Amino acid sequence: MKYKRILLKLSGEALMGTQQYGIDPDRLNQYATEIKEVASRGVEVAIVIGGGNIFRGVQAEASGIERVQGDYMGMLATVINGMALQSALESNGTYTRLMSGINMEQVCEPFIRRRAIRHLEKGRIVIFGAGIGNPYFTTDSTASLRAIEIQADVVLKGTRVDGVYTADPEKDPSAKRYSQLTFQEAYEKNLNVMDMTAFTLCMENGLPIIVFDMNKPGNLLKILEGEKAGTLIQS
Ligand code: UDP
Repeated sequence: MKYKRILLKLSGEALMGTQQYGIDPDRLNQYATEIKEVASRGVEVAIVIGGGNIFRGVQAEASGIERVQGDYMGMLATVINGMALQSALESNGTYTRLMSGINMEQVCEPFIRRRAIRHLEKGRIVIFGAGIGNPYFTTDSTASLRAIEIQADVVLKGTRVDGVYTADPEKDPSAKRYSQLTFQEAYEKNLNVMDMTAFTLCMENGLPIIVFDMNKPGNLLKILEGEKAGTLIQS
């Protein structure tokens, strides 16, 4: 396997599948199966999952909810998704731990860096819920930060698009996909890889990012086997 320890970022929105809201059980099980597949080959897997399928901080403002309050609501949404993913992974026969950036001992462990690393060394799949526990951040920033903290080899950003394009491929049919980019190129071309906070963290710490289509079955394993899929962004 090309990478020994990965941080997989899954968006909350992707979990909706064809639904308008919430969690699509088929999608959830597909993810669990693919994650199990790579974990069973000895890859240490940490996961950050978004909350956009349930709640987003920015959308709160429109409904009169204060931004910070909305952000905390978004963080709680990621815990709900984390719990769902944990259950799906466990029913597939893997060992998991859900660690939260906001203390809630009844449902998950608090995030303790050394403990997270220990879980990974023991082959447990670690899910990081509640973001970094602070408003004004995103789950992309959480993915970058946690990846650096646990010394992951790469951040794998699973989306519904198969990489980074010259323009939005859902709007511009002539858009072309990059197979590889440096951080500098992505920055200068103003390409939408991750939000700036998340992107800068990876750039400054030389942590490679791969943006890929997580909804295409088998893609995750392909990448770990060193096949080219998606877009690799590195120093
Ligand atoms: N959030 C936050 N701090 C964090 C992580 C998340 O405040 O460290 C909030 C933020 O409001 C965000 C929401 O949680 O909108 C859900 O996460 P995100 O939108 O990143 O999820 P995704 O788009 O990946 O589904």
